[in-house]
Amino acid sequence: MTMIADNLQRVRARIDTACARTGRQPEEVLLLAVSKTFGTDAVREALDTGQKAFGENYIQEGVDKINALSGLGIEWHCIGPIQSNKTRLVAQHFDWVHSVDRLKIAQRLSEQRPAGLAPLQICIQVNVDGGTNKGGVAPADALSLARSVAELPGLYLRGIMTIPEPAADFESACAVHRKAKAVFDALKAQGLKLDTLSMGMTADLEAAVQSGSTMVRVGTAIFGGRAYPTGFTSA
Ligand SMILES: *Cc1c(COP(=O)(O)O)cnc(C)c1O
Repeated sequence: MTMIADNLQRVRARIDTACARTGRQPEEVLLLAVSKTFGTDAVREALDTGQKAFGENYIQEGVDKINALSGLGIEWHCIGPIQSNKTRLVAQHFDWVHSVDRLKIAQRLSEQRPAGLAPLQICIQVNVDGGTNKGGVAPADALSLARSVAELPGLYLRGIMTIPEPAADFESACAVHRKAKAVFDALKAQGLKLDTLSMGMTADLEAAVQSGSTMVRVGTAIFGGRAYPTGFTSA
């Protein structure tokens, strides 16, 4: 078994254990393999184990991989910040975007989604812990943005995404994730039909799953540590 296959099995076991602790079914939690900075060989290795959903942060890097791996049935998720001048690339190539935190970006994605493609699946990024530098709307603004996005043609609003700051311990990680779950439940209580709570990464996936995550985004535990080549730009 390759290292990546072995790692994937371990990550799936972590998800299963966290589900079992809270009486959830493992099928309720999707695993998004975050392949940013890793090449197409790494994605193929993961794909060979049955992993179908991959996440990319950097638009151009993601588009290059999407083009190189077309026709293999991969579902591509954009999870990084999106500048206005990159929305067209995202709308043309990705299946999901987790990082929508401005109406203007959603409007551009809606206008630029090619008519022949399925609607672009969207999560609103919500900043639940007040952390800086990561983007995300304040919880109080999530409802109005979600309502507007839900009306846009070419988009399909699925839920919310969070990237909390690293927590000191398991309990504080759970506390932040429970805030996100509360925002998610409040939006659903307002009549929005959402099914995706994208939260949890390598370090905090158990806390996220035990707090109600339906999609964990895991990079390091699958592909290993990331090293950016000299001259790499994240634009
Ligand atoms: C890089 C990244 C991940 C994966 O992080 P790991 O700690 O490597 O699992 C998940 N979500 C987002 C938004 C990321 O940028």
